[in-house]
Amino acid sequence: MANDNEMPESDAAATPEAIAELRRQVAALQAVVDNMTVGIAILDSDLAFSWVNPTMAALFEKEPEHMVGKNVFEIWPYAEEPLYLLVLKGEAFDFPELRRPYPTGDRWFDTHYRPYRDESGAVVGVVVIASEITERKLLELELQQQTAQLRAVVDNVPSALAIFDKEMTVRWENDLQAAIFGLPADQMIGKVIYDLQDFSEERREIHRRAMRGESLDFLDHKVEFPEGERHFEAFYRPYRDRNGEIIGIIVVGNDITKRRQAEIALDQRSEELARSNAELEQFAYVASHDLQEPLRMVSSFVEILAADHKGKLGEEADKHIGFILDGSSRMKALIDDLLAYSRVGTGEVTKSPVDCEEVLVHVTQDLGAVIEESAAKIIHDPLPVVPGDPTQLGQLFQNLVSNALKFRGETPPHIYISVEERAGEWLFQVQDDGIGIEPRHFERIFQMFQRVHHRSEYPGTGIGLAMCKKIVDNHGGRIWIESEIGKGTTFFFCLPKTENDVPEVAESRPVF
Ligand code: ADP
Repeated sequence: MANDNEMPESDAAATPEAIAELRRQVAALQAVVDNMTVGIAILDSDLAFSWVNPTMAALFEKEPEHMVGKNVFEIWPYAEEPLYLLVLKGEAFDFPELRRPYPTGDRWFDTHYRPYRDESGAVVGVVVIASEITERKLLELELQQQTAQLRAVVDNVPSALAIFDKEMTVRWENDLQAAIFGLPADQMIGKVIYDLQDFSEERREIHRRAMRGESLDFLDHKVEFPEGERHFEAFYRPYRDRNGEIIGIIVVGNDITKRRQAEIALDQRSEELARSNAELEQFAYVASHDLQEPLRMVSSFVEILAADHKGKLGEEADKHIGFILDGSSRMKALIDDLLAYSRVGTGEVTKSPVDCEEVLVHVTQDLGAVIEESAAKIIHDPLPVVPGDPTQLGQLFQNLVSNALKFRGETPPHIYISVEERAGEWLFQVQDDGIGIEPRHFERIFQMFQRVHHRSEYPGTGIGLAMCKKIVDNHGGRIWIESEIGKGTTFFFCLPKTENDVPEVAESRPVF
């Protein structure tokens, strides 16, 4: 309330002290607005800048004196006239994230528009307050982008993922993890997992170990569920905060139940197969062994018959005796080969150091007659000592060299036995320049009784290569062929260098 004794206000303002005080205040305010990190501008009712602080001018990459007096549209082509007109009518606007294009790229501003009023309260202009938030916004966008990427990975990764805190409360999990427990993820998050399902002491201990900092991998983790046993590949990791403190655990799991079941079924089937194979081999052995005797009798009596009665029983009978002799000698070859094949047996061999040089010497001695008769040239690299069964390796070389001699062309055969040392194995090659064989037969000639050439041209039983394959398999190696008709054939086989050097077989099971 006004006091009669007091001087009127206008008079008080007029004192020099009051003016000085006012000046001080204006100077102080000026210093504040000049140094504010927020840009401030005042536009008059014609939307020309009447006052601009240095920060606002800097946002337009100008000096304040170059802006004062200029119309807003001249300085800033993106200014929206309707907005200013509404502010001039008394409305206020806030744009916390105003995006503006700049030649150097988009920039973001926290911008506020307020009506500027005179003492009477009438709107006489517009106050614009703006601060640049581009850096923060770009960081935020980057973060959003990274989060989206992570989300995409997490949503698409075919593994169950979960994060637990120290109390084993589910902090986060993906749908696959939720599916394992048969509950929607949102019904699990925030709950202690032990309250949702029974966990064996063994599994709880795994959680505790990971919580203490251990990383644990289980490639076949058997877990009991109410509906039955399931198999998982499970990986447990400590979950740490930014300071490296363990604040829980991360669990990654792949349900491999179906695969494990298939593997178990496969194992059972191969066991059965191995058993029936062994029985079959035993049968082949017994049968061929027992057939030897009667056959020996048949052939010796036919030989006697032929010796005693040749030419006496007539031409037809001589021909028939010839057939029986031929048949019985073929049957003898077959039985001998079958016996040799079944003697090779299946499975692991007892290995001892075998000098392949020596083996080859024996083979060439055994095949001496054919080598001489065909005028064959056999050359070879220095051959190594390998771990193996000496008899079986002898049969392997014998079969391959005798085939190279047998399936020769018109000219005396050249046979080259080479060897190459490779990581963990020896690669042998038995190369000839014989008649060759078509690629379509490459696979089947390694099977029993499979022959490509006719018996009348090239005698044989079709057991040799099956035996070679069995021998190489028994030694943990591989055998294959390359050949060209008319040019020759090369048999390749690998043998592991030491007992432990089993040739690498691609692991088909992804660990993750
Ligand atoms: P066999 O020699 O008793 O016929 P194998 O099992 O040793 O039986 O060989 C199977 C078939 O593979 C042969 O009949 C022949 O057709 C083919 N073969 C094997 N070795 C050679 C070779 N070095 N050159 C051409 N063909 C071959």
